[in-house]
Amino acid sequence: MITVLKLGGTSVGSAEAILRSAKIIASGEGGRVAVVSAMSGVTNHLIQFIETEGAQADEAIGVLVNKHMEAAEELLSGKLLKNFTTEFNDRIKALRNVLNTKDLKEDPYFQDNISSQGERLSSLLLSYTLRSMGHESVALTSEEAGIHATGNPMFGTADLSKTSAALMMSVKPLVLKGVIPIITGFYGRNEEGKPLTFGRGGSDYSGAVVANGLNADCLEIWTDVDGFMSADPRIVPEAIVIDEMNFGEAAELAYLGAKVLHPRTIEPVRMKNIPLKVKNSFRPECKGTLIHHLRAPKNDMLRSVAMKADLSIITVGSSEIAYRPRMVARIIEKIADAGVVVYAISTSLSTVALLINSPDVKETLTHLNLLDQADIERIDVKSNMALICAVGDDLLRRCGVSAEIFSAVREADANVELISEGASDVSLNFVVPTDKAVGVVKVLHNKFVGG
Ligand code: ASP
Ligand code: MG
Repeated sequence: MITVLKLGGTSVGSAEAILRSAKIIASGEGGRVAVVSAMSGVTNHLIQFIETEGAQADEAIGVLVNKHMEAAEELLSGKLLKNFTTEFNDRIKALRNVLNTKDLKEDPYFQDNISSQGERLSSLLLSYTLRSMGHESVALTSEEAGIHATGNPMFGTADLSKTSAALMMSVKPLVLKGVIPIITGFYGRNEEGKPLTFGRGGSDYSGAVVANGLNADCLEIWTDVDGFMSADPRIVPEAIVIDEMNFGEAAELAYLGAKVLHPRTIEPVRMKNIPLKVKNSFRPECKGTLIHHLRAPKNDMLRSVAMKADLSIITVGSSEIAYRPRMVARIIEKIADAGVVVYAISTSLSTVALLINSPDVKETLTHLNLLDQADIERIDVKSNMALICAVGDDLLRRCGVSAEIFSAVREADANVELISEGASDVSLNFVVPTDKAVGVVKVLHNKFVGG
């Protein structure tokens, strides 16, 4: 049996948190592998260094050295502290080289290289902490473990089969010997062997990639909240922790609202049917949320209601667009060129409506204006929109669900501006004006969750 545990930034954010996380790892059963984020604040600090004109490498490094050494001195002593310091200084030396090598700035993966350095430091400290508790442990970088990645800078995707083959050679034998490997999250190595990050918050995804590669029995994501909630508790104080849900529901919720889990975490474990637990490292006694294939029969119609505000609907009008599929393709192509995320699309005979983040409107319009003006009759923007995502397994297989949901929306006095139903069979998504969104979430939660 192999369990992969992913420890987030706050779970390794201080000496106390590291100790708590080390105890969680140590108290597990069977083979264990941990994947770790940087100490909280460290990735932001590194990114700030990249973005600040004239930032001094020594100053940036000083902050990191203090933060880690302060924790190390609380956690370690004697020979272990000495050995840790030697290895830590090697990593700091490598970091200093990266920060000072101007040429690297010509390298498109320069940002990936710098922003991924924090994980190299936290993984070493966590590994030494486990050793100080009498466990055998090694810290492995993503390069050493063989997490292979492809894709554009700051936006990598793991190559699951190459990674699996590598992990079977690098990590599995250690686990079989009872050693606990601690692997850097957040990035892999690209085809050229250079660090390529998986996007902010990407260590969750790293955890899932490692679980997939090792055919693990379970993935545990240790974070600082009790699990997925049935709604944002700031909006709905009665919101409850969801004890169990399936992969599809979790994917929709992670994608839209809850910052509990990086949305890309689900797929690598879903593929291999590996159960995923979300747990709070600050309150390990809480049950957390279990995400798996099987679903418990539930009476509630909805598992959760999420919302996302600060969105806009862009409507492109063009005569008889429905009969001109190439026109639709061209519109979508322009949106893709703008590099924006589309949360919903809806079409009619002569319009295509797209839901995007409000800060992306300007860039989107710039690209849409490149379309042949003879083809376009008008482009409208409706801002201050919010997407409501009602998530529940079986939702769309049940007759009358939409009628019930939308009559509840009427009670909240909200006009529905756009609907996206049927794209996923676990969620019904629709758009209302932002000032009505909180009311809608409350009504739906009260009526359909926890019944
Ligand atoms: N340390 C990285 C970040 O802050 C990755 C992660 O924590 O998931 O984005
Ligand atoms: Mg996170």
